[in-house]
Amino acid sequence: MKNMADYLWVIISAMLVFLMQPGFMALETGLTRAKNSINVAIKNMSDFIVSVAAFWFVGFGLMFGESFHGVVGFSDFFVNFEQDSWKAAFFVFQAVFVGTAATIDSGAVAERAKFSTYLIMSFLTSAFIYPIFGHWAWGSAFYPDNIGWLQKLGFLDFAGSTVVHSIGGWVGLAGVIIIGPRVGRFSEDGKVNKISGHNLVFAYFGVCILFFAWFAFNAGSTLTASENIANILANTIISASFGGLTTLFVSWSFSKNRLPEPEMIINGILGGLVGITAGCNYVGEVSSMFIGIVSGLVVFFGNNLLEKLKLDDAVGAIPVHAFAGIWGTIATGIFIKKSFLAEFGFTRIHQILIQLLGSFTAFVWAFGISFILMLIINKISPMRVSRAYEEIGLNIAEHGASSSILELSNSVRKIIESRNFKDTERIEVEYGTETGELTNYFNTMIEDLKIKEEAAEEALKSLHHMAVTDGLTQIFNRKSISETLTKEIARSIRYEKKLSILMFDIDFFKKVNDEYGHLAGDKTLVEISKAVTKILREADSVGRYGGEEFLAIFPETELANAYIISNRIRETVENLVWDFDVNYRITISGGVVENFGEDYTRMIQKADNLLYYAKENGRNMIMK
Ligand code: GH3
Ligand code: MG
Ligand code: MG
Repeated sequence: MKNMADYLWVIISAMLVFLMQPGFMALETGLTRAKNSINVAIKNMSDFIVSVAAFWFVGFGLMFGESFHGVVGFSDFFVNFEQDSWKAAFFVFQAVFVGTAATIDSGAVAERAKFSTYLIMSFLTSAFIYPIFGHWAWGSAFYPDNIGWLQKLGFLDFAGSTVVHSIGGWVGLAGVIIIGPRVGRFSEDGKVNKISGHNLVFAYFGVCILFFAWFAFNAGSTLTASENIANILANTIISASFGGLTTLFVSWSFSKNRLPEPEMIINGILGGLVGITAGCNYVGEVSSMFIGIVSGLVVFFGNNLLEKLKLDDAVGAIPVHAFAGIWGTIATGIFIKKSFLAEFGFTRIHQILIQLLGSFTAFVWAFGISFILMLIINKISPMRVSRAYEEIGLNIAEHGASSSILELSNSVRKIIESRNFKDTERIEVEYGTETGELTNYFNTMIEDLKIKEEAAEEALKSLHHMAVTDGLTQIFNRKSISETLTKEIARSIRYEKKLSILMFDIDFFKKVNDEYGHLAGDKTLVEISKAVTKILREADSVGRYGGEEFLAIFPETELANAYIISNRIRETVENLVWDFDVNYRITISGGVVENFGEDYTRMIQKADNLLYYAKENGRNMIMK
């Protein structure tokens, strides 16, 4: 019978173990990039609620229900607690454990795993993968005669180095292999690139919460309020500290930068915690120190091993949970106190071999089944997001969620990529925050750049206009109309299109200047240019070729039509009325030619000759 102290201890422990969720959430969001932080947080919360539901439906029954030959439990599905409050306490404690196991792989596959398939994997982990192995190792935790087959062989895993952590880690490993590394993690030349987390302070906050929650994780696993919870807690705190110290010094001495790497210290502590989880009830404090030290080494070298194998574990979950989990499980056999060996009736070697068997079985089961399941899921619906989604980040891509810092960084990136300030929108300012202040500065800077860019564009436009137009008449200048003709000749030859031109000159223009003054002469040039422009079609062009000499280009026009248009121009000019003398008539003479494969010089020359021919034959006429 359980007494009130047992109830209190187990329920309070369960409540504290729940803190592993915010712990992992803070750890993983901190260790990943800002653009995925919200997605990581949502995954961490969602896998917990999925786990509780799945565990209540089936997981609990498979794990702790009446055993079928030590292989699987077969009662207590949709478990009900009406006649049994102890069962409720036990369920809550186990539910926060399954939540922990299910959340481990989220870190490994973070930043590229699709939310929907991740949820399916969380469900399968908590409904089947975890509970079935759990039955083998812990089957009798609720019904005492319900002994799982590994348990019967003498397998020891007090709080779950293997049952919880290795299982979670192996699911993560299968995910990492199937989903593949994040874009940019490994270069094509084989280089390993570190992708830094965006908030290490938050990651450290997460590890503190995990450290704290682990006290209850290990000590609560007594499931009774007994004196040895104190020893368990002491062992836990010692192993974690030595795990962290080991990676601190090892990374300081051997890492690429020869610096105590922040991520390594975190993972050393977590490795120490995972390592002591199996043996916390069976070993002494000096053994705990050794377990912690070796856990740290396992995490450090495990991390290097994964990088060598080009496996991208975003937060280092596999070395921490799977590798340190194996070590902790075997270490339980190595360091178990003699009194326990005597109680169980095993030699130390025998115990170590059983521990090895349990660890190996966990690997084969969890990795094997999750690998196969993910292969199938991946075939039906890819477990990885698209490259575009990965690049914009899962916060926006998967949840439409953004944050001011993210928007700021995206806007800055967009501008750098497009070099376009004009179309940049103002970013919403979150007042009273550091980001808000930065955003304000940024908006002001962009406004400034916008004004400058617009002014520069205006200046460019007017420079271009000046370069191609004649200052007086505002039609093309000689350089520009000549270039147009060169282009049109090339085009007409390449596409076998017709092309004609008109060269015309004002008759007796000197007389206008002499009789009415230079200004009247200028005005004449302007008015004639306007009149000609009006007559021309969209594709035609006209430019001032010399003083009072003009060149008109008619693309895709044969000689006969060009001649008609040219005469229309001639008549129009002739009919213009001049305010300096309403009876005065100004006429033009011109030469029209069609191109038959001549180059620019030859064509102009032919038109010019015809123009002079027109002058000689009485003016006010077009020659062809
Ligand atoms: P025709 O062509 O019929 O033989 O006689 P013309 O009087 O037009 O002959 P010419 O080519 O010798 O004279 C052209 C005159 O055009 C000379 C020049 O003073 C005048 N002219 C050239 N450019 C301008 C200008 O920009 N403004 C004014 N007002 N006159 C110009
Ligand atoms: Mg003239
Ligand atoms: Mg002339």
